[in-house]
Parts: sequence; C-alpha cells; structure tokens
Amino acid sequence: MESRTAKDTLGKAERDMVALGIATAAIILFVATGGSVLPSAINAVFFDGKAPDYLLVNALLLNIVLIIFGWRRYRELQQEIAERRRAEELARELAETDPLTNCLNRRSMLTATDALRARANARGYAVAYCMIDLDNFKQINDMYGHSVGDAVLVAITRRIIGELPKEAHLARLGGDEFAFVTPFDPSNRDRIDDLIIRLYERMSLPFEVNGISIDATVSIGVSSDHDEHGFNPVLADSDALMQRADIAMYNAKKQGKNRYFWFEQTMENELRFRNELELGIRRGVVNGEFVPFYEQQVDIETGEIVGFEMLARWRSEQMGVVSPEIFIPIAEEIGLITELSDQLMEKAFRDARSWDNSITLAINISPVQLRDPWFAQKLLKMLVKHNFPAHRLEVEVTESCLHENVGMVRSIITSLRNQGVRVSLDDFGTGYSSLEQLRTLPFDRLKIDRSFVQELKNPNRNSKIVDAIVSLGRGLELPLTAEGIEDEDILLALRSMGKLKGQGYLYGKPESGEEVLQRLAIAGKLAKEGDAQEPRQEPEADTSDDRPRAAER
Ligand code: C2E
Ligand code: CA
Ligand code: CA
Repeated sequence: MESRTAKDTLGKAERDMVALGIATAAIILFVATGGSVLPSAINAVFFDGKAPDYLLVNALLLNIVLIIFGWRRYRELQQEIAERRRAEELARELAETDPLTNCLNRRSMLTATDALRARANARGYAVAYCMIDLDNFKQINDMYGHSVGDAVLVAITRRIIGELPKEAHLARLGGDEFAFVTPFDPSNRDRIDDLIIRLYERMSLPFEVNGISIDATVSIGVSSDHDEHGFNPVLADSDALMQRADIAMYNAKKQGKNRYFWFEQTMENELRFRNELELGIRRGVVNGEFVPFYEQQVDIETGEIVGFEMLARWRSEQMGVVSPEIFIPIAEEIGLITELSDQLMEKAFRDARSWDNSITLAINISPVQLRDPWFAQKLLKMLVKHNFPAHRLEVEVTESCLHENVGMVRSIITSLRNQGVRVSLDDFGTGYSSLEQLRTLPFDRLKIDRSFVQELKNPNRNSKIVDAIVSLGRGLELPLTAEGIEDEDILLALRSMGKLKGQGYLYGKPESGEEVLQRLAIAGKLAKEGDAQEPRQEPEADTSDDRPRAAER
C-alpha cells in the first residue's frame, strides 16, 4: 500500500518533469515566434504596417498557454515534493519513537546508543546504559485501569528526562521498561550514581493522576563500556552493553526491587547457572528425576516411629542429589511446583502403602499450590486413587501461606480436615502468623522451627522461645512437633517439657523409600497382610459437586 502510493507520486513527478520540459520548449519557441510576431504586431498597431502572420500569432498564443500550464505544474511539483518529504520525516519519526511517551523505541535506541558511544569514545568518554523497570506496573494497571497506567508512564518519562543531561537518550523499550544511555567521564563514575540517586528521589514522590495518588517504584540495572582497566572490548557491540544492564536490573529485582545495581560478572554467572537449573528442572520433571526421601517422626517419650515427613530430592544426572532448598523456589517461580509435587506425592502414597497402617505420612505444601482453589479436591482425588486413608496424611503449610488469601487457605484447610486429613503449621515462629490466625485457623499441630530447638544446645539447655511456643501450644490445645533434634542434650531438654513429637538427625537423616522399608522391617512395622490394598484402577472421586468454598471466611 505504502509503496504503491510512493510509486504513484513518483509517476506523477515524472510526468511533471515532462510538463516542465514542454514549458521550457514553449519558452524557447516563445522567444523565437515572439521575436518575429511582436515587432510586426507593434508595427501594425502603431505604424500601419502589415499585420503579423495569423498562424504565427496562434502559435504565440499557444506558447503562452503552454508556459502558464508548465509553470503551474512546476509549482505543484514543488509542493508535492515538500509534502512527500514531510510525510517521510513523519514516518521515520513514528518508526523511531514510542507514540505514548515520545521517547525513542527499542529499535532506534540501538542506533542512538551506537552513535552516542562513537562520539563519547572519540573524546575519551565512557557511556553508561541504564535499564529501568517499574516494580508494580501490573498492579497499577489492574487497580486503576490502562489509561491511568499510561498517564503514569508519561509522568515517569517526564521525571526521568528532568534529570538526564542534554546529550543522553531515553527510550521506552516496551511496557513498563525504559532505558537511557549517557556519556560520562570514566574517572568519575560517581556522577552516574548521583544521577540515579536523584532519579530515585524524584520517583519517591507519588504520581497524581485524575485525583488519584499513585506510588511507583523502579528497579535499575547499569552497565558501562569502560571498567577499571578502560574500554572493555567485549562490549564493542551495544547489544552486549544492554544485556548487561538487563542482568543487573534482574538482580535488583531479585534482591527485593526498588534498588539499583551496576553489572558484575558474578551476576551473569549466577544467571547462567540459574537458567541451567531451570532447564534441568524442566527436564527432570519430564524424566521423573525427583524422588521422595523420608525423615522419621518419633514420639520423644518412647522413641517409637510414628510417621515420616516426605522431603523432596532431585537426582540430577549432572549435579547429583540436589537439595529442595535450591529447586523448590525455582519450581515455584516457573510454575512447575504443582506438577513436581504431584509426582512426588504419587510416589510417596505408593511407598507408604507398605508401611504399618498406624504410620503417618507428612507432605510439605508450597504457598503457590494453595493459590489453587481446587487444591483440596485434587489431593483427595489422589488419595482415593491410591486407596490411601486420609487419616494417615498430614499436610504441612508454612506461615507464608497465610499472607496471601487467608479466606481461601482457610477454606482449603477446612475441606481437607472434613475428609480426615490433618494440617500442621510448619516452621512456626519464623514467619508472621498472628495469634488471631492461630486461634481462627483450624490447625491440628504446630511444628517448632529447628532454629529455636537448636537453642537448647546451650549449656543451660533452655530456650525462652521454645518454652513460649510450648505453652502457647498447650493453651491453644495444639499438639507440637520439635524439628531439628540433633543430639541427646536437646532431646533431654525437650523431654522435660511434656508430650511432644520430634524429628532430627539424632534419629536419622532423610532416607530413600528402600531404606525406610529396611528400617521398618527391622522394627516390625511393615504393613500387615491385607493392610496394603491395591490402588483403584479408575480414579472415581467425583468432585464436581464439591465446589471449593472460596468465600468461606
Ligand atoms: P522443612 O519442612 O523444615 O524440612 C526439614 C528440613 O530440615 C529438611 O531439609 C531436613 O533434612 C532438615 N533437617 C531435619 N533434621 C535436621 C537436623 O537435625 N538438623 C538440621 N540442621 N537439619 C535437619 P531439606 O530436606 O533440605 O528440606 C528443606 C525444605 O525444603 C523443607 O524444610 C521444606 O520446606 C522444603 N521441602 C522439602 N520437600 C518439599 C516438597 O516436597 N514440597 C515443598 N513445597 N517443599 C519441600
Ligand atoms: Ca516441613
Ligand atoms: Ca520445618
């Protein structure tokens, strides 16, 4: 469409060139014919001479018409050319700028950066490339609508421009992501820090849009083409410079947002490692590399095994056995935790069928899993499929689950308990659960975090926090489990506190399913004949009527 119009204009212009040619020829002819017609006309009018040749007069008139026609076309041609230039200029501007904020866009930023670097480097200057990303733009959009979001972006642009030196370029790279590039004296890096700090000061003021006051924070990553040794040839390509600023920005997000970082090589290494982990986890889920290990839970009075806590392990081909503390947070972030947890639970239900009927199985559930309103229904369906009695299952949730949608979490806990599953509050004391939540959420058990239990290692064998949690549990009539019992001293101290369950390295480190079987065989605690029922072939739990009661408070 665009090229067609351009062609038409060109065609017209060519025709106009012909018109101009005709006009020029007409002028020449006019000079020639005028030269003979005009003297004889003057002669005829003023001196009674012979009238000029009729044919020549006509030719002269025709010439005049042609000259006027040619001149007009020439003027039009000039106008057309000027208009076309303006249109081309506009098209170029549109292609290079972001229509909302009028700053450069991603494409033109690269060219602008290259040009600025060439100029800066030629006079011994460095450039700093800063990537700016809003921390809470999605919430602003969700809460106030897109037009308010747009207004915030425009206001942010103004604030950034207000701090930038004249020679800097600012671009909106997309969504809520901005970048600027600015030259600086490499011996005076602080100037860039000062600039960014001024930016943060400006950003800390709320944005007033349509009478609404909105707070926005940003995370910033900075990279430079110069380091302490001077120009870094690795960064000859501006793309590499941008990528480094991006990595530094990602690091700022990871460190808690609303802060800035200069790029450092370690960040890139970490990111690469993380990407490899992520890829490994995805592959591991497909290949079933995640396996349940089990930690004994005992009655600390009798020392008898009463249950096992399932703890995930990743048997990675490249890295060996990997701790859940490394892969669980990543699985949560990349949305794989549910699939991973389901795989582990399936395996654990199968393993636990060979254990004595009295032995419980505890599983850890991530806050991310509790965001699914169908979580309880899915878990119960899995229990039915494996013919695993609900009363043998204990679900451990941490206090961080209670920060999000307490109403829904309460409804999930209630559904599970209605079916006979028990629910414990894990790592108690390390999060921020309020006494009110403890009183109103129907937990069956508190687990005292091992960091407190290990305070009992001190020579006095006491811990004010453990004492306090124990009396709190008694007061609320909640049974307690002490985690992290590492030695006899801790055990002795705990024994003096009354009836408790306990677990820890004193009893043994987490073991594989096979090792647990051996342990139980020795203790005479394997499933009795007839206990271990085969799982159902068809999962039959029909949950269609059992809607999650998200509104239950
Ligand atoms: P957690 O639920 O608090 O699990 C107890 C952790 O303490 C386990 O680490 C266990 O090996 C360790 N531990 C047990 N006894 C002792 C002791 O006496 N001394 C010391 N120093 N440590 C002890 P692990 O297996 O590395 O698990 C770490 C965390 O990962 C768990 O903490 C749990 O929050 C999470 N996790 C493990 N498996 C899963 C899972 O399947 N799903 C989810 N969502 N989280 C899991
Ligand atoms: Ca746990
Ligand atoms: Ca714990």
